[in-house]
Amino acid sequence: MSERDLLARSLAAVWHPCTQMKHHERVPLLAIARGEGPWLEDTAGRRFLDGISSWWTNLFGHCNPRINAALQDQLGRLEHAMLAGFTHEPVVALSERLSARTEGHLGHAFYASDGASATEIALKMSQHYWRNCGQPGKNRFLCLEGSYHGETVGALAVTDVAIFREAYAPLVRPAATVASPDARRAEPGETGADVARRAADQLEVTLARAHREIAALIVEPLIQGASGMVMYDPEYLRQARALCDRYGVHLIADEIAVGFGRSGSFFAYRQAGIRPDLLCLSKGISGGYLPLSTVLCTEDIYRAFYDDALGRAFLHSHSYTGNALACRAALAVLDIFDEDAVLDANRERARWMGEYAGELLAGRPVRHLRQRGMILAFDVAGADRDFPARYFAAGLDQGVLLRPIGETVYLMPPYVLDRALTRELVARAVRALDASLPPG
Ligand SMILES: *Cc1c(COP(=O)(O)O)cnc(C)c1O
Repeated sequence: MSERDLLARSLAAVWHPCTQMKHHERVPLLAIARGEGPWLEDTAGRRFLDGISSWWTNLFGHCNPRINAALQDQLGRLEHAMLAGFTHEPVVALSERLSARTEGHLGHAFYASDGASATEIALKMSQHYWRNCGQPGKNRFLCLEGSYHGETVGALAVTDVAIFREAYAPLVRPAATVASPDARRAEPGETGADVARRAADQLEVTLARAHREIAALIVEPLIQGASGMVMYDPEYLRQARALCDRYGVHLIADEIAVGFGRSGSFFAYRQAGIRPDLLCLSKGISGGYLPLSTVLCTEDIYRAFYDDALGRAFLHSHSYTGNALACRAALAVLDIFDEDAVLDANRERARWMGEYAGELLAGRPVRHLRQRGMILAFDVAGADRDFPARYFAAGLDQGVLLRPIGETVYLMPPYVLDRALTRELVARAVRALDASLPPG
């Protein structure tokens, strides 16, 4: 099939995600033929450095030989079996190893296939916990301003993105939003921790008033990804944890984007020295190979459902719950973390990324250059509405895949770049910036 044919047929038959399809009259679609390490190659043979890990999923490069080998082995044993009434080795091993990554604090794993479903599971689990504990009135949720927890109808309730909320408002029972601890809001002389304490004060006012109706607060620990890599001080998580304890409200950590080493620690919440009651994981969990998500919970939550009555059980299932192939890919990902001391190597990679960004962005109209672990972001002064599309196109011309969010350009590469490729990534990002700066 020629590239032209493939693109035309895709536009006719495939409805692409979060895309105004008419835009593709002007903006070309790319047909990807293969991937290798941090590179994606299109059907015309053009190569792009994957600067955003294919929507934050890919941790160890495309077509990773070790993950491929694990999946090939698993394919010869068991591809899938239903998880109600059945179990299998990959799902048991994965649950135990994820629990161990929380020091056993979150010892029960419930599985689904995508991030939004993990959010829905955490919300349902929290509400049902309170119901089982004789407090059925606790069935509302709190989320942060600018939060993103997925786009299914239930997850939209805790997703504070105006364009989604408006379009689907009649379907959604929205959560209350509390102030974001966005460190960019620091007044002169204030630190990020000061902003965090101010936001926590507002959270306390809301909890003091409404805790009898609130089941849980859901947060993206340290980095609010989809609203533009908003970074905040760990102090917020410490205060939020203490307030949730004081007011009897669950703390849900949505680490779908920031888990698996992205923030610099294996889980981001660890940097605050706290523990959530529920932890949502997806995206990087399978190294970007297969759809998989999980919610880990505490013994206390699990026990509230353990009973003779079916009505007190957690009533939720997906056909592909605990898919054996996806679990095996996740085990291969954990093996790589263990065998390669990935978190240590990433500290070095993160340092290179920060150094080159500081050096190569000097003199450009950017502000709020910020970084946590393997995410680096900056805001482009005077970015207009068309900036993200213009930058994306300029990036492709430079052989790099980057998709700004509004005025924010961010780098979130797979954990495979050496020093030279890290410099190359930053250099291409800066050349794309020069080619797409707002006029004037
Ligand atoms: C991507 C994301 C989700 C949703 O995951 P999907 O697999 O796209 O449904 C939820 N929460 C956060 C923080 C995310 O980044």
